[in-house]
Amino acid sequence: MLPSASLLLMPDISGFTTFVHETELEHSQHIISELLETLISANELNLTVAEIEGDAVLFYREESVPTPAQIVAQARRMFRAFHGWVQEFVSTCPCGCAACQSVRRLTLKVVAHAGPLGFTTVRQQRKPFGEAVVVLHRLLKNDIPSHEYVLLSHALLAHAPGSLAVLGTTAQPGISTYDDLGDVRYVHVSLRDAAGPFAPVWEGPAAVPLSSAPAALFLAGPAVAQRAGSPPRGSGGRLFSDHL
Ligand SMILES: [Zn+2]
Repeated sequence: MLPSASLLLMPDISGFTTFVHETELEHSQHIISELLETLISANELNLTVAEIEGDAVLFYREESVPTPAQIVAQARRMFRAFHGWVQEFVSTCPCGCAACQSVRRLTLKVVAHAGPLGFTTVRQQRKPFGEAVVVLHRLLKNDIPSHEYVLLSHALLAHAPGSLAVLGTTAQPGISTYDDLGDVRYVHVSLRDAAGPFAPVWEGPAAVPLSSAPAALFLAGPAVAQRAGSPPRGSGGRLFSDHL
């Protein structure tokens, strides 16, 4: 194991519409703050919040890198908390505004990386900086053909105790090329597979206008309905909420 590496971990929410109306802006701010709180509350690896970055949270753990299995378990916990909140919201919110309607198609990915960190303190807020922070942010854009996964960089695996083998065949290799960094290798684990029934209520890229699609389609999700080999279920919401 290499010395002095710290963990960086960032859950990142995708799928929000850009809003223009004042009411929708208010609702979207409320939704995002609730979801970010939910993600922060799901922290069980003793992570520190460095800052909120739009629809994402930058966590770190200084000079200590958990095992790959612990990181995947942490991502799963955040994923379950996230979709638990989404499902509760979708089943109870009567508001038809674009912000509230977009909640059903929100997705979550988690990116994890490790390396030496520097720290700067601004207004009593300690923030990590350095190349590892840059790499983490680059990794948010990658070539993984999915919206919901946890990504672990090879640099992280080099610093982490424990074996990747414990994840078995669920860990898929990947590589992305960046102009300034060159090739960056990683493995990724689907959170859908890992989290079982806590699949999102919506998954792109198929764009069905919200106003014209039957509600059951959103509750069960096109991918879920296809796998089950049956039409979308009217009680799709219950499918998930039974496991909350
Ligand atoms: Zn609303």
